[in-house]
Amino acid sequence: MEKSNIMLSIIIPVYNEFKSLKELHGRLTKTLSSLNKTYEIIFVDDGSTDDTFKTLKELSDIKIIKLKRNFGQTIALATGIKKAQGDIIITMDGDLENEPEDIPLLLSKIEEGYDVVSGWRKNRWENSKITRKIPSAMANRLLSRVSGVKINDAGCTLKVYKKELFDNLSFSGDMHRLFLAYMAKQGAKIAEIPINYTPRKHGKSNYGISRTLDVIVDVIAFYFFEKFHNKPFRFFGAIGMFSFLASFLSFALMIILRLAYKITFIETPLPTLAVTFGIVGFQLVLMGLIAELIHRTNKENHQNSDYYIKKEETTCAE
Ligand code: UDP
Ligand code: MG
Repeated sequence: MEKSNIMLSIIIPVYNEFKSLKELHGRLTKTLSSLNKTYEIIFVDDGSTDDTFKTLKELSDIKIIKLKRNFGQTIALATGIKKAQGDIIITMDGDLENEPEDIPLLLSKIEEGYDVVSGWRKNRWENSKITRKIPSAMANRLLSRVSGVKINDAGCTLKVYKKELFDNLSFSGDMHRLFLAYMAKQGAKIAEIPINYTPRKHGKSNYGISRTLDVIVDVIAFYFFEKFHNKPFRFFGAIGMFSFLASFLSFALMIILRLAYKITFIETPLPTLAVTFGIVGFQLVLMGLIAELIHRTNKENHQNSDYYIKKEETTCAE
């Protein structure tokens, strides 16, 4: 049978996962070859200190990108995505918590016309403490709220995307967990489907409870950024105007009190307030102008993620 000319790129960031790699590679290759599509597998070694790189080099027909040090999952994913040649990007974890066998299911949804299909680890917190369940549910709820689409499991790495969705996305912080929200804002059609989840057998998770707090802060940043990144002066300018208004009101009240009730200026805190609000308003307007300037300059300078790479290798087919 002819292979379809749509190419898949599977991107797997790994940080100290050498024990899972052989099994993952075997199961992944088996699943992919049954799909009758061209594909490339890209492992991004995120500065591992164990035998990850050595083990990767023993695996057949994969691309390996080794980063200079541990940059974190977002940069590892971003570097892999930048190098991907496929029309469809598939991201997954390297610790076997995501099952390669679920890929065909997600792909079939893309074929149905969705732009992004995300795995939903429905049973993830089944046996976990309530202190893990609730913060995670809250973060997903908040993200759904600000992005306008229902998201149950933003943190699941197993996702399938159309490549062009990444064309206008610049990566920062831990934003891979917000990809769905960013893409929703771009107008992408999103589906979430339940997938299998097996807790990791080897090693331990790189994240603890504090991650959820980070996600909540990131969601607030996302909201702010989405609303104002194209027009920062609107944000600073508006608060600046409020401050000027407060300054004016304090000043007016001060004059009224003096004229109508003979209360001297220094008996009230109004002169201080009028001056403070005035200065703060002026500063905010200036800050807004600087933000606007930074935004416009930045637009012209796109970040190049090649910077993070130490070396790249391609292993031979068997
Ligand atoms: N990972 C990475 N760089 C890091 C931390 C994690 O590339 O700094 C990889 C890790 O090897 C795994 C995936 O990202 O393949 C998810 O990490 P982890 O299993 O620790 O997170 P969890 O499953 O608890 O969300
Ligand atoms: Mg994991």
